[in-house]
Amino acid sequence: MKIGVLALQGAVTEHIVSIGKTGAEGTPIKRVEQLDEVDGLIIPGGESTTIGKLMRKYGFIDAIREFAGQGKPVFGTCAGLIVLAKEIVGGESAHLELMDITVQRNAFGRQRESFECDLDVKGIDEPVRAVFIRAPLIEKVGPNVEVLSVYNDEIVTAREGNLLVSSFHPELTDDYRLHQYFADMVQAAGSTEQ
Ligand code: GLN
Repeated sequence: MKIGVLALQGAVTEHIVSIGKTGAEGTPIKRVEQLDEVDGLIIPGGESTTIGKLMRKYGFIDAIREFAGQGKPVFGTCAGLIVLAKEIVGGESAHLELMDITVQRNAFGRQRESFECDLDVKGIDEPVRAVFIRAPLIEKVGPNVEVLSVYNDEIVTAREGNLLVSSFHPELTDDYRLHQYFADMVQAAGSTEQ
């Protein structure tokens, strides 16, 4: 099983290492054709405006919509969450508009720009170590979105069918259980295909 990591900008290598720990193979995706070779895709953290611009430039908007439309799982972390959202607070144009969530960028106050905590995540037994860096929060979710974790009453992990998002960076710790959760989604999607 192969999982791609969109490698236009942001934290790519760390995701590939975490994917490796699940037993799947992680591979960087730089061109749209490479999407044909993977069963799932991670859109990493970084800067969402930059990632969005590069996605438009290299044809990834339609390609990722098609990829997700085939039922293949997509996981967005931090900036990746923002680019998957249908709506961004403040009138900024949304990017992929795939997931029925409204997100607010840089939502945690200045003094808390970066912090770590242990989070309860639905579907994972023990709390997950979460690193937040100028993180977004999910302000509103549509009826088909399942909330998987909250921090101070704010939604920070959610799932809608084959789409998974987290406000934090699961790839920056040794805790790879959220990657395992995603790898299990990829595995399940692959087995219903046959
Ligand atoms: N603040 C960034 C943005 O708005 C996201 C930060 C991150 O990915 N760590 O795009």
